[in-house]
Order: sequence, then structure tokens, then C-alpha cells
Amino acid sequence: MSPTTDTDVIICGTGAAGLTLALDLARRNIAFLLIDKAPQPFIGSRGKGIQPRSQEVFEDLGVIDRIVASGGEYPVQRIYTADGPIDQVGVEMSEPTPEEPYQIPLLVPQFLTERRLRERLAELGHAPHYGHELVGFDQDGDGVTARIATPDGEQAVRARYLIGADGGSSFVRKALGIGFPGKTLGVRAIVADVYVDGVSPDAWHRWGEDTAGQVSMCPLYGTDMFQLQAPVPFDVDLDLSAEGLTAFFRERTGRVDVVIRSVSWASAFQMNARLADTYRRARVFLTGDAAHCHPPTGGQGLNTSVQDAYNLGWKLAAVLDGAPESLLETYEQERRPIAEAVLGLSEKLLEAAKNRDIHRGREVSQLDLGYLNSPLSLHTSARDKGVLAGDRAPDSPVTGAGGLPTRLFSLFQGPHWTLLGHDVDDNSALAPRPGLHIHTIGTRGDIVDSGDRVQRAYGLSSEQWVLVRPDGYVAAVVDTAELPAVEAYLDTAGVRPLAATRPTTTEASTDMPTETSSESTGAPRTRREHRQARTAAEQRLATAQRELHQLSRQVQRDLRSVRRHGETTAIVARSNFAELAVKSINRLTANLRTDRTDQ
Ligand SMILES: Cc1cc2nc3c(=O)[nH]c(=O)nc-3n(C[C@H](O)[C@H](O)[C@H](O)COP(=O)(O)OP(=O)(O)OC[C@H]3O[C@@H](n4cnc5c(N)ncnc54)[C@H](O)[C@@H]3O)c2cc1C
Repeated sequence: MSPTTDTDVIICGTGAAGLTLALDLARRNIAFLLIDKAPQPFIGSRGKGIQPRSQEVFEDLGVIDRIVASGGEYPVQRIYTADGPIDQVGVEMSEPTPEEPYQIPLLVPQFLTERRLRERLAELGHAPHYGHELVGFDQDGDGVTARIATPDGEQAVRARYLIGADGGSSFVRKALGIGFPGKTLGVRAIVADVYVDGVSPDAWHRWGEDTAGQVSMCPLYGTDMFQLQAPVPFDVDLDLSAEGLTAFFRERTGRVDVVIRSVSWASAFQMNARLADTYRRARVFLTGDAAHCHPPTGGQGLNTSVQDAYNLGWKLAAVLDGAPESLLETYEQERRPIAEAVLGLSEKLLEAAKNRDIHRGREVSQLDLGYLNSPLSLHTSARDKGVLAGDRAPDSPVTGAGGLPTRLFSLFQGPHWTLLGHDVDDNSALAPRPGLHIHTIGTRGDIVDSGDRVQRAYGLSSEQWVLVRPDGYVAAVVDTAELPAVEAYLDTAGVRPLAATRPTTTEASTDMPTETSSESTGAPRTRREHRQARTAAEQRLATAQRELHQLSRQVQRDLRSVRRHGETTAIVARSNFAELAVKSINRLTANLRTDRTDQ
């Protein structure tokens, strides 16, 4: 059978991992096919805890407010004892800070989170293909040919990469023969989304905490349902109907006033802690539960899956756009150690829960995870304060030079890299390049650090620069003199200077290396070239906007000077303005000419 379709990436699985990856690729204009063997979207609530770091990821992907609005904060834990109910705070909550704007874990049923991700995907022009099962694949040096069983028969699809986001029993992992060592944790449990009478939605109710007869009911905010959870023996048949679950619940709690009216979704599962031996075989990658599975304690599985996909997305896109293949090796190097640590944490919390300790601290927030030892973390000058390469890049409120408040996370939002110069003398010490946004913070910069918050959050001195990756981790903190190391780093990460064939200004044309496959014509032909041309045009637009902005500030300064010093200065100011305006218009015209060549 010869391949019938061509795409860049096939994503197998539309859980949180597959959808996150799809969103990240969609906003980078990468072609992909997103498939799921299920006939329709998953309807269960299981991964209902959205941790602060995932909330930051969702902000970047443009869905955070919709996800927050779909759920709520974790309620108090109400423990029913022989002496009556006792309310206990289960999740440690700190107040949001300027550096960590999301501190509170959210409770959102997994099916609502996934719905919001699909809605965002639709806004970007994509939809998952349900009823499409990956049934086989072969790979060679150039790509992967996947066999997909569809309602219209089997199809062969050719892609550059295949991603197994197909959950704990991953077909892709098994087909690759990748080991999944670990252990079953000796715990079997039921989880069911139920409509119930007789339980109030103001608390997560827990009965029989110190016995084998535990059972809990957690309100599923955003719905009228509760999630019923309970450990159950291995050797019993379970009746997961409304009547069966009501009888089960009454037997454990003695509460005859509680009636389960209907069951939306129910499952009995065994808890496992497993980690794939490797996350990659050549052109096929594993992500999410396909690569690791945890007990649900601590609410880590979905979050780790989302962040796997977020780590893989920008690297795949960069390599498809011409970055070295070695960038993809850093996916496993960065994410597998994280999964290993998360497995340990979930098991520790499971043991604690068995001993009635249901308290969860900062460690579950995933805000402190980072990539300090990654090959992508450029450690240059010794630092004794502030953030290091590999750390999560903190947020901070700042003010644009135009006077409007903004935040670092707003500057980071999108598929680009960001370079922040702190109190630097030469604003243009590093030439702009497509896919890199450069901001300078300080009195002559485009960003004002009101209250020195950035300076404190990052621990920066004058003439220091921070390079932030597209996924919001610090890649490097360097002095101005070390910027050549950043340039070399960006080259190897696929963030290259504009091609010399399409200069935008005379300065730009002097130092740009040549590098595109349509150098002779200057017109983009392939998808990749179109993407590059579009990114380049966006970069030129941003540069033009910055120039106009600087011009307007110059005029404002001149006008202030006019008011202070009178007519002579006014004449000088006007001529300065005219000169600057003409220069700026010339530059814009040159840019427009180049844009027209790019179409
Ligand atoms: C009771 C319970 C509670 C949990 N609570 C939490 C929590 O609070 N917080 C948290 O972070 N996590 C939690 N988790 C874990 C969380 O649900 C998972 O980690 C998460 O769903 C993993 O997402 P995924 O996208 O990797 O895989 P999945 O969500 O499993 O999605 C995999 C998809 O791949 C599809 N698929 C499989 N094979 C094929 C094939 N051959 N072809 C096409 N499609 C295929 C499947 O149909 C499925 O839709 C909980 C889990 C359980 C069971």
C-alpha cells in the first residue's frame, strides 16, 4: 500500500499530551495529523488537578482563562470520623506573587480541560480525527509510514515524525519494543463520575480514612457531578451501575441518605509506577502516559504529560524548520529525569495517603522543575545569585516604554525565544533574527522595570542578558561581552540570522550569513520557506514598530525640551524629528519592498 497523505507529524492520541502537542505545532504552522482510535472525545474526569506550572503553559497556549473558568479551586477535605466531620486543608495554597502568578492548583475535570484544548485547536484551524486507530508503522531514514484504520478503511500516511501520545498501554511503545519497567503498586481502585443526591459540593468528602473501606466524593467543579473514588479488593466483581455504586457506598459509609442517581463514566484500575526505557526510536517519540505512568496521588500524571508535549513541540518545529536533529535528543535528556522524580513523588504521596496524610506541599506545583543539567542550558560566567540557565523563567510586572503595564509572560507568550537586556549600554548589541524577540530593560530600553522587580526576580546586574527558551525556561544568563556565545547558541538551536538575500536595512545586510534554498529567486517555495518568510516578515514588522516607538519617545523628549528652553531648541527639535522621520520612512519602505517580494 503506498502512502496516501503527507504530513510533517502524526500525533497518535488526543489526550492532554496529544492535544497540547497539536496546539503547539498548530501555532508554529507545522503540518500534522492528530488521530485517536476512540469514536469520540474521552468523557471521564480522571486527571482533574491542574498544577501551577501547567497553568503557565496553558497561558502561553492561550487557554488559561477558559480552563480556569471551567473548574474551581480545590475544596476543603471533610473527613468523617467517629466524633463527627473534621475539615482539613488538603492542598497547601500560597498567594500568587508577581514572579509566580499561578500558585493555586485548579480542579478541572479532564474532559473539560481537553474540550478547551480542542476549542483552541479549532481556532487555529485544526480538529482531531476520531475513529482513526494506528495499527502499524515502519520507519526509514526520511520518515515514518503509518497504517491507520479509519471508518473508510485502512490508510497509509507518510510523515517526518510519529508521536506516541497514546496513553499507558501505548501501542507505539509496544510496537517499538521499548521496555516499560516499574511496578504495580498493589492498589486497585474505582473512579466514577456520578450524579448524586445527599452530598454537598462545598467539600471533598472522605469516609473511612483509617480503614480498608475508604471512599471519597469530590465535587467536579464546572459540572453537577462528583468524582467517587475508592480502593477495592483485587478479587471481587464490581457493579459500576448507579444502583451498584449506591449499594457499595452505603455498605462503606452507612449513609442511607446518599443516592447515586446516574453514572456518567466509571472505571476500575490498578495503580502502576512505570517509566519507559527510552522516549525515542529514531523518528518515533513517546510522550505523556505512553512514557510514564504514576498513581493518581499528587495529581501529577496529566501535568507531566502536558509539559512533555510542551517540551517536544518547539523542538520538533525547530528541527522541521532546519535546526540540527540533535536538538531532539534533548527531549528525553530533559524530560525523563523529570518523570523519574515525579514517579518517586507520586509513590511517596501514595504511601502518605495510606497513612492518612493527605497534605500536599509545594513540590506538587511543578514550579521548581527545571533543566539545569541539560545540554541546552548554557552556563557561562559564574553566578552567585538569581536564576540560572535551566531554571523556569519567572514572571514579573513591567511597563512598556509607551506607558502601558505588561508582564514578562506577555513578552514571552508565543513560539519565539526572548532575549532580555538589563540596563545595557548598547540596545542593539545582538542583531535581530527571526524567531527571537529582543527587549531591553532600563531607562533607555523599551521596557521599564518599575520597582526593580525583574532585577530582583532574576538577580541581574547592569549589562546582563537573559535568553529565555520558547517553553519559558532560562537558556543562558550572560554579560554583554558574552553575547557571541548566545549568537552561537541560537545558531545551533535553529534561530538563525535573516538570510543575506533579503536584507531589511543596510546594517542588516553587512553581517548576515547566506542560508536559504531559494536564494536565487528570494521567493519562498516550500512550506518551510513560507514559514521562514512569514517569521522574517513578523520580525521586520516588530523592528519597525520598535523604531516608530523610539521615534515617538524622541519626539516627546524634544517637545519637553521645547517647553523648557524656548524657540531655538524648538527649531533644532523639529529638524531632528524630520531627520528621524525620514530615516524611519526609508527603512519602512525598504521593508515593504522586501515583504512584497516575499508575498
Ligand atoms: C483516577 C485517576 C485520577 C487521576 N488524577 C490525576 C490528577 O489529578 N492530575 C493529573 O495530572 N493526572 C491525573 N491522572 C492521570 C491522567 O489522567 C493521565 O496522566 C493523562 O490522561 C495522560 O494523558 P495522555 O495524553 O498521555 O494519555 P491519555 O489521556 O491516556 O490519552 C491517550 C489517547 O490515545 C488514544 N489511543 C490509544 N491507542 C491508540 C491507537 N493505537 N491509535 C489511536 N489512538 C490511540 C486513546 O484512545 C486515548 O484517547 C489520573 C488518572 C486516574 C486514572
